[in-house]
Amino acid sequence: MKKIKMTTPLVEMDGDEMTRILWKMIKDELINPFVDLKSEYYDLGLEYRNKTNDQVTLDSAEAIKKYKVGVKCATITPNAGRVTEYDLKEMWQSPNGTIRAILDGTVFRAPIVVDSIKPYVRNWVKPITIARHAYGDIYKNVEMKTKGKGKCELVFTSETGEETRALVHNFESDGVVMGMHNINKSIESFARSCFNFALDIKQDLWFATKDTISKKYDHTFKDIFQDLFDAEYKEKFDAAGIEYFYTLIDDVVARVVKSEGGMIWACKNYDGDVMSDMVATAFGSLAMMTSVLVSPEGNYEYEAAHGTVQRHYYKHLKGEETSTNSIATIFAWSGALRKRGELDSNKELMEFADKMEEASIKTIDDGIMTKDLAVLTSLNNVKTANSFEFIKAIRDRLEKLI
Ligand code: NAP
Ligand code: MG
Repeated sequence: MKKIKMTTPLVEMDGDEMTRILWKMIKDELINPFVDLKSEYYDLGLEYRNKTNDQVTLDSAEAIKKYKVGVKCATITPNAGRVTEYDLKEMWQSPNGTIRAILDGTVFRAPIVVDSIKPYVRNWVKPITIARHAYGDIYKNVEMKTKGKGKCELVFTSETGEETRALVHNFESDGVVMGMHNINKSIESFARSCFNFALDIKQDLWFATKDTISKKYDHTFKDIFQDLFDAEYKEKFDAAGIEYFYTLIDDVVARVVKSEGGMIWACKNYDGDVMSDMVATAFGSLAMMTSVLVSPEGNYEYEAAHGTVQRHYYKHLKGEETSTNSIATIFAWSGALRKRGELDSNKELMEFADKMEEASIKTIDDGIMTKDLAVLTSLNNVKTANSFEFIKAIRDRLEKLI
């Protein structure tokens, strides 16, 4: 069999623990036998990040800017425990945070929907993609506990020294206060990534804030989205037959639950944090969530939404059998290969990506699945596969499709 050729490399970022094991199996079984893979490899495993003083993470992000497409394995975000475990020189930053900051991107998370796993919300038949603004609001807040009587004010001092003031509250007794901010440029990048991604996958874009209560802060988000849409995207949306829809956050929650899915839901930072966990759980399993970072310039980085599955890795190290779900990592690869194919007009590569996904979904719907899904499925005769058997079963089906 002739392998599919690639003209341009994609950026491959290896990772940690159980997902690093799955990474190799996926390449050996599902990619290398079929594709003459061209990738620029960066090892973001914690040991090598530590060895290079995290330079490898910065280099990988620059490489994504160069090649426009990357695929990333889950990585450890160090905490105190990891500093001891890996004898780290420093508590390195989260690679995802570092890459996101360099690419100025927005993260889109979407569930992989299969017939044999029914979402908790009966009418959801299509995936719901959550786009989370990843800058500012309460994640960059300043807060205080106040004691006794006193007043709290917001003061903005301009470059030339003029002050603008607003009273927050005249306190009669103990209380709490918080200041937060956002930047128009960041909101605009977020809006641009959302509009571009909606055009990319041809789905409606919904956005919501609480602008009736927050007449300046949230209203600015609403206005920036609307102005950009009217100026640059309205015609493109019309041509693609998709819609931009704005409403209040409480209204959108009700509409999403009653919908059949199939839209992108853009969320302010906090809403995205909360709603992405709600949507992931309602669709079944974190192991079935994909994630793609999209920059306003059109760079794409694909990964699974879950972490390195540490608990399974420790079992694996003890020689015990694991049943870790590789679907989200497989879809990170298929997403990146499809995007590479699209940018290079490589139809064969795009079709291969579709087949990888089709074979994965067919495996589950045939009743062969990992333990996390076996406990959720509506099917009766299920074979619970270990990590390797599951990937092997996908390979069998992929071979039949090719
Ligand atoms: P996790 O790796 O997502 O796993 C949490 C639990 O969810 C697992 O113990 C497992 O439950 C279940 N699970 C997640 N993915 C699964 C899969 N593919 N197949 C089957 N079950 C799956 O989160 P964590 O244990 O809190 O974090 C581990 C490490 O990952 C941390 O060092 C963290 O920094 C890192 N992390 C990285 C990323 C990223 O790179 N994007 C994201 C999140 C976390 P059971 O144990 O019940 O089977
Ligand atoms: Mg959360």
